[in-house]
Amino acid sequence: MLEELTEKFERVLKKVTGQGRLTEENISETLREIRRVLLDADVNYKVAKQFIEDVKVKALGKEVLTSITPGQLITKIIYDELTRLLGGNGAEIKLNPSGITTIMLIGLQGCGKTTFSAKLARLLKSKKRDVLLVAADVYRPAAVNQLKILGKQIDVPVFSIDDSKDPVKIAEDALEYARQNKLNTVIIDTAGRLHIDEEMMREAAAIKAKVNPTETLFVVDSMTGQDAVNSAKAFHEKVDFDGIVITKLDGDSRGGCVLSIRAVVDRPVKFVSAGEKLDSIEVFYPDRLASRILG
Ligand code: GDP
Repeated sequence: MLEELTEKFERVLKKVTGQGRLTEENISETLREIRRVLLDADVNYKVAKQFIEDVKVKALGKEVLTSITPGQLITKIIYDELTRLLGGNGAEIKLNPSGITTIMLIGLQGCGKTTFSAKLARLLKSKKRDVLLVAADVYRPAAVNQLKILGKQIDVPVFSIDDSKDPVKIAEDALEYARQNKLNTVIIDTAGRLHIDEEMMREAAAIKAKVNPTETLFVVDSMTGQDAVNSAKAFHEKVDFDGIVITKLDGDSRGGCVLSIRAVVDRPVKFVSAGEKLDSIEVFYPDRLASRILG
């Protein structure tokens, strides 16, 4: 994951590491190269521009301490800015200590939403939550079956209503089912479409208005780069969400989505996933990813 991005950052930073002094000239040269790395990675260009500005202001204002080299200093500044770009301290999902926690997943078809709902269910079950998965994707007939199979694998019940085309009612009935069966965590897998579509947005907004989720998470496929960021923008405007889940990081060597998305929609990335298996889910820590990218 993110191999190409990591390699390029390494190459640029290696060059500046050997230099004795931080001058305006070598800072500018390094920043030009970093800008190219970001744009090659398919980072949103406004985000790249702002990032370079921020690093520049910090680098120019810094006296090089005798204990660290200019290369170490600029690497540290880039690390700090990268961590900030990725979300700073990170943000965990909210889980109600009492009553029902409802987590609604939204996103385009194929982004890995159904798989992720099972990954999240498995993770929360391991934290002793009593989980119910809800199959509210009424458009992709295979989705309900897929969720039932995944539910069985992790021993988590799946709520569905055969032949229903009404996801709002499915979600409402699922909550009632959870209440009656003393399940405290409900994960709703909603329908996606291949492209941004008004009806999909209306439907997601209607479910959200009805169940008032504790957390609404937007799931997005990392490999789709700037398209991912654009779909996040559209969902943010029409439905809004509390956090982002980035899937398929294992197949993404460039990193444009993960680097730009939080800055563009101003919502934190809460989980990432890098594999099809159900244990492939990680709480997202911006500083850890920044370290990984900078090698
Ligand atoms: P949905 O339409 O959004 O519900 O998408 P699915 O959950 O059905 O996933 C679509 C495809 O992506 C499936 O083949 C999944 O196995 C695959 N997939 C999901 N998450 C990941 C991931 O993190 N990495 C990889 N490589 N594949 C994934």
